[in-house]
Amino acid sequence: MGRIIDILNQDTHFCDGLNSCMNCGVCTAVCPAAEFYNYDPRVIVDTVQRGDESEIEELLKSNTIWYCGECMSCKPRCPRGNTPGEVIMALRKASIETGLFVESEKGRQQFAIKRAIADSVLGVGYCVSPDIAVPEKHPEQGPVWEWICANKEQVYERVHANYDGNGAGALRHVDEASLNELKEIFKVTGGTAFMESIEQCSKEKAAALGMDIEEYLHETYTFNSGGDGYGNNE
Ligand code: SF4
Ligand code: SF4
Repeated sequence: MGRIIDILNQDTHFCDGLNSCMNCGVCTAVCPAAEFYNYDPRVIVDTVQRGDESEIEELLKSNTIWYCGECMSCKPRCPRGNTPGEVIMALRKASIETGLFVESEKGRQQFAIKRAIADSVLGVGYCVSPDIAVPEKHPEQGPVWEWICANKEQVYERVHANYDGNGAGALRHVDEASLNELKEIFKVTGGTAFMESIEQCSKEKAAALGMDIEEYLHETYTFNSGGDGYGNNE
């Protein structure tokens, strides 16, 4: 692993997001995530600004960086023109690039998001597809979703969707050429390498925990310890 601070300095979100912090705490005062979690953007920015490699490494291994809702309410309020939300985006990216995300519960959940959302985007062209979000795998969707899935032709016709059809309209079939174009965009923008890092590090973590990858996926999708946002209960 290169120096984390060097990785951060190559990230435009990091360079845009941090000028200099005077520790006033305005970002924490306006932050909606700070209302619900024991989470403090001021502390995160201050830690990064100190530049201590081992402290930043601890941040990348912690739950803390995954509590930000990326709403950017902190951006217009900071008297020094910082954007803590962008600093946190850069920390998340570095956590995935270095593989340290698997050391925290919320970090490990990135694998569930990758499998549920990214694989759906690249596989069928939608973030969420009714054909992938099947009730057997998503009992949390409840009985209404189960009913919709059992009656989807009828339901989608009523809302004038073009379910699995050609041409325009919601839920239309996304053709092979468009899917290939999407894959190319992911490739040239670094998205594919990013997803591969999540997949590979998660497989290694699953093996280290003595789980097969499907068990690990189920664990990351369903387990929530109710940790406090400062890396406790990981
Ligand atoms: S509002 Fe800006 S200067 Fe104040 S603590 Fe947050 S990042 Fe630092
Ligand atoms: S972007 Fe993150 S840190 Fe900033 S206000 Fe929103 S939740 Fe808080």
